[in-house]
Amino acid sequence: MSILFSLFAKQVICPACGSPARAAFGKTECTNTACQYFSQDALNRLRAKDAPAPRGSYHAANPVTIDYRNYLGIQKKFVAERGSLYAIHNHIVAVVEPTGKPIALSKTRITNLNWLGDVPPKPKKTKKNTGK
Ligand SMILES: [Zn+2]
Repeated sequence: MSILFSLFAKQVICPACGSPARAAFGKTECTNTACQYFSQDALNRLRAKDAPAPRGSYHAANPVTIDYRNYLGIQKKFVAERGSLYAIHNHIVAVVEPTGKPIALSKTRITNLNWLGDVPPKPKKTKKNTGK
């Protein structure tokens, strides 16, 4: 089960507590020890995955720094592209250096939230209206 789970698991935000988690087969394994979905295996894997520094060569054209305290209480700084920020539920999604990939950060853990100003809601898809 565990190996299969790891193969299929996707990184998600825990629906119960907003911490990094993984989910597969309708089951959530959360990395927050205080959470009802906590899994030591998920936490171990996250720690192992966190060990190497993120790679990439992405540089934000219009950078904004996000101060963030993660679920382990570790203060981190993310340099994000200001234009990429949007708010969804109680998270802010931002494209960050150096990976150029969007990450979701819980607003309650962003310690300089008021510096970010008004973050717009998730942009509507600009796809053509399919006329439903
Ligand atoms: Zn959780």
